[in-house]
Amino acid sequence: MISRRTLLKSIGATALAGSTLSMPAIGRADGGASGRVVIVGGGFGGATAAKYIKRRAPSIDVTLVEASGRFYTCPFSNLYLGGLRDFESIGHDYAELTERYGVRLVTDLARDVDGAGRTVTLASGETLAYDKLVLAPGIDFRWDAIEGYDEAAAELVPHAWKAGPQTQLLKAQLEALEDGGLFILGAPADPFRCPPGPYERVSLIAHYLKTHKPKSKILILDSKDAFSKQGLFTAGWQALYGDLIEWVPLSQDGKVVRVDAASREVETEFGTVHKAGVLNFIPPQKAGFIADAAGVVNESGWVPIKAETFESTQVADIHVVGDATIAAPMPKSGFSANTQGKVVAAAVVAALGGDASPEPIWANTCYSLIGPDYGISVAGVYRAADGKVISVEGSGGVSPAEADAAFRKREAEYTLGWYAAITQDIWGTTAA
Ligand code: FAD
Repeated sequence: MISRRTLLKSIGATALAGSTLSMPAIGRADGGASGRVVIVGGGFGGATAAKYIKRRAPSIDVTLVEASGRFYTCPFSNLYLGGLRDFESIGHDYAELTERYGVRLVTDLARDVDGAGRTVTLASGETLAYDKLVLAPGIDFRWDAIEGYDEAAAELVPHAWKAGPQTQLLKAQLEALEDGGLFILGAPADPFRCPPGPYERVSLIAHYLKTHKPKSKILILDSKDAFSKQGLFTAGWQALYGDLIEWVPLSQDGKVVRVDAASREVETEFGTVHKAGVLNFIPPQKAGFIADAAGVVNESGWVPIKAETFESTQVADIHVVGDATIAAPMPKSGFSANTQGKVVAAAVVAALGGDASPEPIWANTCYSLIGPDYGISVAGVYRAADGKVISVEGSGGVSPAEADAAFRKREAEYTLGWYAAITQDIWGTTAA
């Protein structure tokens, strides 16, 4: 791993702060481009693509189809669970996209895509014709993967892996937990949305429990043997929470195979049964269903893309961004989706104007809070080569293992700055 200083030297600090790296000429209007673009999903990837297509070529007609009127971010939902933020502070609306950039917003669910006829059908029955379609639906859950864990079970045992009512349900359950109760988190195998997310979640729930219910414990049952920023997380847990958090990896019987939602019990691979006071189960995932309906997913359940443009390898003129894609080594993160959205905006504008796509470069930083004053991060820079996303050699890095409290506090401050910057960039709204 190279140091953060070397990373900054290699890509320029602005890329990390404002994620502008992927489109250096982003402010320029390409007058020649015109056509109809439909975007499905107004989260990190889709809302970014909508804004940056309009910014680059206002003459393109952009329709954004988003199921909810207000978007609650998964990033910082863990801060809400830990008592560090209120719920509305992670909510964003589409006023800037519609009023300032002229995006047409349709609040509805896209039900189907006809790739040959180039149309999207909405739940209302309306049909939208497109020249270019951008799918940014995020994830859906594999409800058939774990015995006992289906949509009905999630009403009792929340996943809280899409922010909204699920996150509020988990928070209410934590508040009702008795002092001395056990919080269990079931973490999935790779690949899944936000590799460090489960471990940031237990960190901030540990902060909440230590503050309000100090006799309580946390058990992580994991379906894998290693996780993102593992050494930094475990050192932080030890420093801040002592033995409050126990992690059980796959090879030591961490894999949950059955959930009994009514009794909040889980059974692991080798037959051990654990009973929780609060159970948070994060099930295996796949691309949002509309990607399947459009015919762009492969047997993995995710979407293969041509790295240069994030266009589907299976259906022409459908670009896909964000968690739904197979873009490893880029992680499934909001920051990745944001930079991918900018690259897709450039590719779509170029194609509609009859130009070649600019050469893409993407950046990502995943910040995590272990406590309110204790931040850590992992960063990477990526480029396209032979249709694949690859890491730029010599780029990237993680926070140092040895760092004093002032350093960790600064990273916690950068975490807050990152959230303010990215939400401002995408929705034009910076929550208090
Ligand atoms: P989303 O942002 O989920 O957007 C998808 C949108 O599409 C949704 O609004 C949905 O309503 C809409 N939609 C889906 N299907 C349809 C349809 N058929 N019709 C209409 N609308 C539809 N990432 C970071 O970079 N930093 C972090 O600190 C971070 N923390 C996280 C913490 C947690 C607890 C979790 C769960 C995730 C975290 N992430 C973080 C990851 C981040 O949330 C995702 O990577 C990001 O949201 C992916 O963006 P996306 O555009 O692919 O999907």
